[in-house]
This record gives sequence, C-alpha cells and structure tokens, in this order.
Amino acid sequence: MSNMTYSDWQSRADSLQIEGRAFIDGQYVSALSGRTSECMNPSNGQKLADVALCGPEDADQAVKVARKSFESGVWSKMPPMERKKVLIRWAELIEQNLQELALLESLNAGKPISDTLNSDIPSAANTIRWTGEAIDKAYEQIAPTGQDSLALVTRLPLGVIVAIVPWNYPMTTTAWKLAPALATGNSVILKPDPKTPLTALRIAQLASEAGIPDGVLNVLPGDGPILGQHLCLHQDVDGQTFTGSTAVGKLLTQYSGQSNLKRTFLELGGKSANIIFADANLEKAASLAAIAGFYNCGQTCTAGTRLLIEQSIYDEFLERVVEKSKGWIPGNALDPATRMGPVIDKNQFDTISQYVSLGLEEGAQLACGGAQVLAESGGHYHQATIFSGANNQMRIAREEIFGPVISAIPFDDAADAVSIANDSPYGLAGAVWSRNINTAHKVAAAVRTGTMGINNYFGGDITVPFGGFKESGNGRDKSMHAFDDYTELKTTWIEFE
Ligand code: NAD
Repeated sequence: MSNMTYSDWQSRADSLQIEGRAFIDGQYVSALSGRTSECMNPSNGQKLADVALCGPEDADQAVKVARKSFESGVWSKMPPMERKKVLIRWAELIEQNLQELALLESLNAGKPISDTLNSDIPSAANTIRWTGEAIDKAYEQIAPTGQDSLALVTRLPLGVIVAIVPWNYPMTTTAWKLAPALATGNSVILKPDPKTPLTALRIAQLASEAGIPDGVLNVLPGDGPILGQHLCLHQDVDGQTFTGSTAVGKLLTQYSGQSNLKRTFLELGGKSANIIFADANLEKAASLAAIAGFYNCGQTCTAGTRLLIEQSIYDEFLERVVEKSKGWIPGNALDPATRMGPVIDKNQFDTISQYVSLGLEEGAQLACGGAQVLAESGGHYHQATIFSGANNQMRIAREEIFGPVISAIPFDDAADAVSIANDSPYGLAGAVWSRNINTAHKVAAAVRTGTMGINNYFGGDITVPFGGFKESGNGRDKSMHAFDDYTELKTTWIEFE
C-alpha cells in the first residue's frame, strides 16, 4: 500500500503539523485554564506536542454546546438518509488523509506504521462508512396488536453522550463509539486518553468538513480522574460509553448511580484463552498463537494471553510458538519492517517487568524473552515473552498484564480446557483449534466469552458484534447491535375510535 521507507516516514514526521487543541463547537480551542500536557512518542520518548489539558470548566462548556446542538435537531432530527451521506463523506475524508493519520497514530501510540496504514485507519473509516450506510436501513417495529390499535416501537437517540477511550487502539475504539452514537442522532463528547489524543483531534476537523454540525462532535483531551470523572458525573449527560480497564469501568457504573443513572456501556479488559488440541493444524495455530499474544505488543484487550495446550503436544507445540516468537522483534514504530513496536510508556513497561518477575517467583519458567531491549532508544521495548509451566492459579494467568507475555498452560481434555478457560473473571474473547468440528464447536459454545474463534484468532469484522461477558463489560460495539447502546426504545400506542 505504501513504498515509503523508514527515513521517508521520519522526514514526514519532522514536518508534520500537529493540532493539540481541544475541538469544541466546531472550533479548535485551548483549555480555558490555558493548561497543556506533553504528548510523547513511545518509540523514542520524545515530546510530540503540547496538548490542551481540559478540565471541568471545559467539560461544562462542551456539555452545554452538545446539549444545544442536540435540542436544536440540526443533527438529531436530520433524516437518517442525510446523516448517512455525512458519515460516508467523513469516512472518505479519513481515507484521503490515510498516510497523515497513520503517521500520527504510529507516532503517538507506538503502533507499527504497517499496522496503522493497513489496519487501524482503514478499519476506522470502514466502521464509519458501514455504520452510516446501515442507518437508513434500520427499520423500526410495529407490534402485533389487534385491529383497534396500532403500536409503534421506535428508537430515539439518548441525547448527549460521553465517549471515553483508551490508548491501545485510539482510532479503532473511537470509530466504534462515534459511528453508532452519531449515526443514531446523538451529540457526543469524546475524551481520548491523554497519551493518545492526536488522531481523534484531527478527525474531528474532518467530521466538520464532512458536514457534522458544530457542537455535535466535541473532542476534549484530559485526565481520566479529573475531566473523565466530571463528565461521567454530569447531570446533563444522558449516556456514557467506555473502552478501558475493568477497574475504571466499575467506577463509571458508580458515577452513573451517583448522578442521573446515565446509560452506561462498557468494553473492558480480558484474559483470553487460546485452546490448542492435538489434532489442530499446529503450524497455523502456532503462528496465530504468536500473533494473538504479541500483536500491538500484547496491548490488546482480546490478546490470547492464556495459551491452553493439550498435554500430549505441550512441549512440541510450545517449541513451535517459541520459534514463531523470533518473528516478533521490537523496533521503532515508523520502520515499515517493524512488526512489534514499543510499550506505550514507562509505567506500562514497569508493570510488564513486574509481572515477568512475579511469574518466575510463582514457579513458571521463561521459554523465551523476558527482557528489555533497545534501552538506548529512549523508548521502552520489551521482548516477546512466553512462560512455560504456568497454571491457571498463577497471577500471570489471572491478571491482565497488557504486554507481550503469554502463559502456556497444559490441559487434559475438552472438559478440562473449558473449565480452565472459564475460570477467569473476564469473558472477552478466545479461540479453539481442532480439526474435529464437534470438539471445536462444543468448546467454543461452552467458553463464556463474547467472541470465540474456531481455527483462527482475531476473526471478525464490522458486521459482527463485539463485547464482553462477566467483568469484560456489557453492551456491544460494531454491527447494527451497537445501535441498541445509543438509543432508547419508545412505544407509542395509538387507539382507534
Ligand atoms: P484505563 O481504564 O486506565 O483508561 C481508559 C480511559 O479511561 C482513558 O481515556 C482514561 O483517561 C479514562 N479514565 C481513567 N480514569 C477515569 C475516571 N476515574 N473516570 C473517567 N475516565 C477515566 O485503561 P487503559 O489502561 O488506558 O487501557 C487499557 C485497558 O483497556 C485494558 O484493560 C484493555 O483490556 C481495555 N480495552 C478494552 C477493549 C474492549 O473493547 N473490551 C478495547 C481496548 C482496550
């Protein structure tokens, strides 16, 4: 898709104009306090931009303009067919600015440029286009009443929605939230993670160019516990949609209860099981096991961090995955050859290192990795790491590490595999590998997660819903099921005389 070299991308990065101001009411504005925070490049630890550090006063202003735009009907009452055209235009503008957005995302989130160029940005555009195209095909219902009455079941937008997203997939999660929230007619305030606000700030302007009216989409960078909390406790916000950690997700449900019971939709953490039976295509399964653990440096909610291997092939299969891990050498995100970039920051790196030490203390062994590399770069790079001899009671197998660390756990039979997979507070994703359709399907059905792959990992596209069971959240991103999270159902019962 691109012939650009590492040095081409670097020189393009040097001349990049970066917008760091908030986007409120169709304009870029500084935080009312004038405060900014430094936004860093995880690949080299250098500053990329000063970004507006919005606080409660900016939040109040944004809620006011979002409410005004919602009540005016300029977007909320626009016919779905017209909203569709605007969203499709927005997707096209994102595609026209693909290289700039891919570069921004790569610089800011440390994601490999080949991923942002081929996956993150195109997939965000696709989410917006698909959702826009769907909105004027979403029929509402007439209930099966008798002849003397007519009951309409219609969907209404919630009103003002706060969307809070994390740093690991900034554009993807932003698009998953904004597309259905806007398609259904809501006005939105997006709070990106303070570490990764740059692409969200840029696409807000593209949204405006595409025809999203002023005040309908606002982007406020700022800290979670100050700005985020204020927005989530706000009495004039009707819904909050969140992707992030389970700990913060639990706080959001409290904020809802402490304020106006705003609708709350959460996509949270995971500790997914990737289950390998002896009769699987082991070569393919090993490749995908490495991808499941190391893609995006393991900073993925659906990462296959618990590798469950049937006892009879444990050693052989582990060896294959260790071999595949050699293809996951950390490198600068702007190098088109890089498959695995840096960890997002020092805090996250320290967390990963602590878990590696903990795994050894718990009695697991390092089959590969476990160390820092490229320390001289100024970034924080961690080797692709696999623990052998792990069991499901170890903390490395129970807690979300959010780094390139796989724990390989043996199992005896299908019942044992299901029992281990389900012995987790999380229920987000996972996969099962077997050539026996009965085993594969029965195990996939029995594992309590929102998504299971059979003979694949990370399967799925915008046409299917995505979300978690248990402490991995509620509600669903993607597909037309996402409309449920951003609308209220209304019954209108008409009695004939
Ligand atoms: P996090 O929960 O710390 O932060 C996520 C967002 O919440 C950020 O924008 C942050 O500023 C904000 N926030 C923090 N404290 C807040 C508060 N008190 N009130 C309101 N907002 C607050 O998560 P993280 O560590 O940045 O992201 C990684 C987590 O996200 C992992 O647990 C991962 O599994 C999860 N995740 C889930 C999905 C999914 O779809 N299920 C997708 C990606 C990431």
